[in-house]
Amino acid sequence: MEEAIEKMLHGFRSFRDTYFSGDSELFDQLKHGQHPRSLIIACSDSRVDPALITESDPGDLFVIRNVANLVPPYEPDTRHHGVSAALEYAVNGLQVEHIIIIGHSDCGGIHALMERTPEKPAGEFLDAWLDLAEPAKQAAMVLSNASSHTRHRACEEASLVLGLENLLTFPWIKARVDAGKLALHAWYFHIAAGRLFGYDRAKGGFTEFHPSLHLSQSEDHQP
Ligand SMILES: [Zn+2]
Repeated sequence: MEEAIEKMLHGFRSFRDTYFSGDSELFDQLKHGQHPRSLIIACSDSRVDPALITESDPGDLFVIRNVANLVPPYEPDTRHHGVSAALEYAVNGLQVEHIIIIGHSDCGGIHALMERTPEKPAGEFLDAWLDLAEPAKQAAMVLSNASSHTRHRACEEASLVLGLENLLTFPWIKARVDAGKLALHAWYFHIAAGRLFGYDRAKGGFTEFHPSLHLSQSEDHQP
């Protein structure tokens, strides 16, 4: 049982030696504050750590992670909106230039959404959370002759597009997108294949990012 904690503490010692050894320019800067240029919304899945898969440095990414990387719509009420609060801080406070929603294959949250029934709900809190992506499930269920694998992938992709639409329901996100100060992106990481795809608004689908290509295709200021 202690092994997991021991591994993390060992990792922290190594991290500290790397970044706090006294000659790290990066951490000298970061001591004075953060200025990340990108906000990432990713799944809580242990295999899709955004900083790890993009080899980002501390200070590069402001990150929101939740089950199935879902984005709620703008709901200005008095309830506890963790994702919306983080969006507000990143967009209005830190003034990030990019918001990237990163979905992935084999997503447990999407699997739970696809397989749940009124008789077998996904969980006490999961059900209401997954309701956010119910329209993506309905879109995927139209593929009635497809395999469940194909439908799950369709749902994973449709929920990313829905996330882009929901981002634009926040008036201060829409305003910055319209002003050309903020760009919205949706990426899909295929874990088993080690491949990354980006949503191409013109094509209405996901296209693979090839390592040799610059990622300019997703630099649009609209989803
Ligand atoms: Zn997931």
